[in-house]
Amino acid sequence: MANKKLDIIPLYDWGMFTEPRPSVVAGPCSAESEEQVMETARGLKELGINVYRAGIWKPRTHPGSFEGAGSPGLKWLQKAKKEYGLKIATEVASEKHVFECLKFGVDLVWLGARTTANPFLVQEIADALKDTDIPVLVKNPVNPDLDLWIGALERLNRAGIKKLGVIHRGFSTFEKIQYRNDPQWQVAIELRSRHPELPFFVDPSHMAGCKDFIQEISQRSLDLGFEGLMIESHCNPSVALSDAKQQLTPAELSDLLYKQIKVRDADSDAKEWKENIDQLRAKIDIIDENILYTLGSRMKISRQIGEYKKNNNIAILQTSRWDAVLAKVVAKGKEYGLPENFITDVFNAIHEASVEAQNEIISGKSSK
Ligand code: PEP
Ligand code: MN
Repeated sequence: MANKKLDIIPLYDWGMFTEPRPSVVAGPCSAESEEQVMETARGLKELGINVYRAGIWKPRTHPGSFEGAGSPGLKWLQKAKKEYGLKIATEVASEKHVFECLKFGVDLVWLGARTTANPFLVQEIADALKDTDIPVLVKNPVNPDLDLWIGALERLNRAGIKKLGVIHRGFSTFEKIQYRNDPQWQVAIELRSRHPELPFFVDPSHMAGCKDFIQEISQRSLDLGFEGLMIESHCNPSVALSDAKQQLTPAELSDLLYKQIKVRDADSDAKEWKENIDQLRAKIDIIDENILYTLGSRMKISRQIGEYKKNNNIAILQTSRWDAVLAKVVAKGKEYGLPENFITDVFNAIHEASVEAQNEIISGKSSK
């Protein structure tokens, strides 16, 4: 489905981010006290951060947890802005939050994952932001619903917000996984291809849920060509009132940004690179053709089997046969250096399509 282009002002014209990548928004999960806000701001300013985040109103899963400092916290952010020349950013989840932010000179706001999932709130926020020039970043909704995410962007854009971007922070899962939130990169990649005009941030802190995975997620997001990172950083993470496990000290953030992650060029005009990459891509195109031809041939035979099963009154699915095929291809795939889950996914998809084709034949829906 093609989406209508959003009317977006490019990221580097927002007056707060400059090249090279990554553009960074950093700061504590929550503003906790004036001292913590100022101390963290000082550390981050020293390492060249220009856009400072801190949650003022915190959407907590359970009641009784620290729910943010509320409006008094905005005064601390304002002080950090004045003292260190930082742009300040916070999450808004209601019209009231927006008005408070405008009153205290907040420079950028973002919508949290729980808010993006709620069109009523998104509309309320869009209406409150009408006729302002404030940049807005929209986190993905908690569930992997791309249309819901795009719908939120459309609501804001229709309200005249043109300094608009997204933050990918992963999706909630019921199963326990390695990360706090499941990246499902394909959702972000799909959004990127439908709306290449949107600036793209990744939030490795909320995706990871602990310090250990922040580097690999940040690298991945740079390798995907995304423009920015939103990272939680706290002057003393171990005593943080929210998200203690995932926050980096400013010194750790400095290591991450300047020593650990590598920014690779999206493309190059060098002649040798062009020639080599063109040759390699031509090879890939031929292989893709072959894959399609092979899949088509396989499907033809699968349909013949369908006819044969129909004529002999045999059921479509023989699970033991499929288990044996899968085991064989997984073993063979290993010889070719192909990961088991990749082979399982590919062959299950092929099998599903075959079963469907045979089902059409047996039920008489297909004449092929
Ligand atoms: C946050 O950025 O502090 C936050 C609450 O994030 P999310 O909406 O991604 O959970
Ligand atoms: Mn947080």
